[in-house]
Amino acid sequence: MKRTLHWFRRDLRLHDNTALRQAVDSAEEVIPVYVISEWKGEHRWTGPNRQEFLCQSLAELAERIEQAGGRLIFRQGNAVRELALLVKETKAEAVYFNRDPDPFGREVEEELVRVGAAQGFEVRACKDACLHERDEVLTGSSEPYRVFTPYSRAWAKLPKDKPVARVSKLRTPGGIRSESVPTLETWRIALDAQVIAGGEDAARKRMAALVASGLASYGAVRDRLDLSGTSRLSQDLRYGLISIRELFGRCREKMETLPATQRDNAAKYVGELIWREFYQQILWHYPEVLEDSFNPKFRGMRWKSDPAAFDRWCAGETGFPVVDAAMRQLAQTGFMHNRARMITAMFLTKDLHIDWREGEAYFMRQLTDGEIASNNGGWQWSAGTGADAAPYFRIQNPWTQSARFDPDAAYIKQWVPELRDLPAEKLHVAPASGLPIALGYPAPMIDHATEREWTLQMFAKHQGATALR
Ligand SMILES: Cc1cc2nc3c(=O)[nH]c(=O)nc-3n(C[C@H](O)[C@H](O)[C@H](O)COP(=O)(O)OP(=O)(O)OC[C@H]3O[C@@H](n4cnc5c(N)ncnc54)[C@H](O)[C@@H]3O)c2cc1C
Repeated sequence: MKRTLHWFRRDLRLHDNTALRQAVDSAEEVIPVYVISEWKGEHRWTGPNRQEFLCQSLAELAERIEQAGGRLIFRQGNAVRELALLVKETKAEAVYFNRDPDPFGREVEEELVRVGAAQGFEVRACKDACLHERDEVLTGSSEPYRVFTPYSRAWAKLPKDKPVARVSKLRTPGGIRSESVPTLETWRIALDAQVIAGGEDAARKRMAALVASGLASYGAVRDRLDLSGTSRLSQDLRYGLISIRELFGRCREKMETLPATQRDNAAKYVGELIWREFYQQILWHYPEVLEDSFNPKFRGMRWKSDPAAFDRWCAGETGFPVVDAAMRQLAQTGFMHNRARMITAMFLTKDLHIDWREGEAYFMRQLTDGEIASNNGGWQWSAGTGADAAPYFRIQNPWTQSARFDPDAAYIKQWVPELRDLPAEKLHVAPASGLPIALGYPAPMIDHATEREWTLQMFAKHQGATALR
């Protein structure tokens, strides 16, 4: 081919990029393009933290492409319309891209295929965002798995693709119109949080640190809120700043060098990567999870809507130190530790009885790694309504969770400075009824034991009512 487009989406890297590699190998000239979304100001699922991370990553990608001899073209608007226009303007013969695992991305891809067929350009889609796509891991009767453990066993048995070579050279024809690299100004939004550094270089450093040291202890420390025991790679996987093939390959190589206990710790990490793909295939096969419970038994549950309580939860003003620390960490950094995500999600659903969909949307607006499959999976897991979820009657107690996973209260004290001078033991026990733990800090907004009972009854009543129907 003389000329092709590569449409960048959730694959903002030059290392091991399947579709980009194929585009470069099959055409003399490649036009790399990113289509900036059109939304203005407010969006139920998006916010400044993720957009900032995206902008930083795009700026670096544009630089790296220039160093390789090409030019990243930015267009803004409807992706299919902009790509079709660009194909026409540049007389390109094909559009390459890596498939998006979520239903919104897929809709756009299907539309692009239709327009390509009508206008006479080729559309080539590649697998890239995961090791195994939706229909690769099925039960013996060709059904999708609904439970994690058998899914993960089947997943682990399949052969894995190897990384492809980094794109170090590409030629882009001159004279193509481009918008400038987007900034938050593009959407007229402003940043309140201090988000993790974007771009492929920073992501690769995080991956290298994981492989060099974090992996060997991961399983032992991953749940500790007060330690930096996790990889912090979720936003990098979300935006494709690192490839899952390379990450998995490097983990596997490293595991072979580790003694048994450390190998088990590292295997726990690989298990988390499998959860990511488990939720991706759940969303693919059951897109209705975005609207309602995965588990049909719990559809139509009467969750509460309580704006005042919801606002206190968002602001980290619940009077439960570990919940408040986590919610403030989220607001200030666009990140929250996995254990804290479970604690806060259970608190919203099981202690405040607020609809998990409200928490899901808030997390999507705040999280730099916000990704609809994992986020929906995590929320439904916590609410007890999801695929292989925590059973509804297993309700975490925020007080014992913090004693267990933040024993010295270092995490609490980092994010809730009002509590800095108190001994840790005081922060893991409910204060006497109605009283705050410290002056200037709110009293707990509910009593956990009472609300736990309420939740058990809510689930039992719902199941009783549906059984009678
Ligand atoms: C309520 C809730 C909401 C969540 N929302 C998201 C989200 O929007 N985006 C997101 O990437 N993860 C989400 N998770 C999963 C998990 O909390 C984050 O992936 C993790 O905290 C990211 O930090 P890390 O990269 O240091 O994770 P590590 O512990 O180092 O894990 C390694 C990688 O495995 C994947 N992973 C880890 N845990 C899970 C999990 N439970 N489900 C799916 N993938 C996982 C991530 O890609 C992560 O980067 C959510 C979990 C819960 C309980």
